Amino acid sequence: MLFDDMRTLLARARNIAIIGAKDKPGSPVDHVGRYLLNAGFNIQPVHPVRRQAWGIPTVRSITELPERGFEPDIICLFRAPQYCEAHARETLTLPRLPMIFWMQEGIRSPEAGMLMAAAGVKVVEDRCLQTVHAALFDDVTETFSCTRCGKCCEGRGGIVVGPADLPRLCAHFGLPAEEVLARYAENIGGKPTLKCGEDGFCLFFRAGKGCAIHPARPAVCRAWPFFRGNLVDGLSFAMAKEDCPGIRHEATHAAFAREGFRYLNDYKLRAKDILHEGRALIVEESELPPEARS
Ligand code: SF4
Ligand code: SF4
Repeated sequence: MLFDDMRTLLARARNIAIIGAKDKPGSPVDHVGRYLLNAGFNIQPVHPVRRQAWGIPTVRSITELPERGFEPDIICLFRAPQYCEAHARETLTLPRLPMIFWMQEGIRSPEAGMLMAAAGVKVVEDRCLQTVHAALFDDVTETFSCTRCGKCCEGRGGIVVGPADLPRLCAHFGLPAEEVLARYAENIGGKPTLKCGEDGFCLFFRAGKGCAIHPARPAVCRAWPFFRGNLVDGLSFAMAKEDCPGIRHEATHAAFAREGFRYLNDYKLRAKDILHEGRALIVEESELPPEARS
């Protein structure tokens, strides 16, 4: 498959079911699972015995996914080749087929591949999803490059913890959602929001070091400075440029808005739910300056 096609598919995918999921430290599946959570995907671990992985309750088999209301865009397999055909047959029973049937590095199954390809599902064999994703999505910022000054980690009230952020934080701390929220969040404007210390900085900001929970930080932290206001309004963009030294001086508003909108899409950061997610992440292409639209 061409790299451009794969980039498009991975940008469109949101939900990944990982078969053979376990969060045993040091295991390849743990590494990949944490990376994919960090990259903004919704992950559903599948394991016949384990009850949870990364703080997310497992299902025992793919056939339980419809009950869980989870429609996978990608089935990612960490299973020996002889089991892949059976997983392909299970996949064919899903009400909506995934876009990609992905067999991780070292796993090949022509039988599974033929079944999936005949059903119109893209098949990847013997490739690491993390490696491919990282290679395809490392070119995001011509108008911005973070200097890690930490200015954006100051200010109470803006660090909303959305529903998609919680599993990542739970996995990071090894705690259930209620405990994470009780320890580290407060309710502001009806939304859980990370607490700040007396210095006005986020609890997790460490002077000179940056974010202590970087892989698990909420979507709003990942998205800044590509916030709605800065994408749709030239004046907000000019003010953000003064506040955030990472925005390139020569960047035009149109280029910044175009790149920012693509970044939010690629990293699944755009939100829709105004009641539970950060308002700063809710933006439509039609709101961008005309030169920034595709
Ligand atoms: S203010 Fe800008 S440059 Fe500084 S840490 Fe935040 S995003 Fe990076
Ligand atoms: S979670 Fe990390 S990136 Fe976000 S505000 Fe806190 S210290 Fe900054």
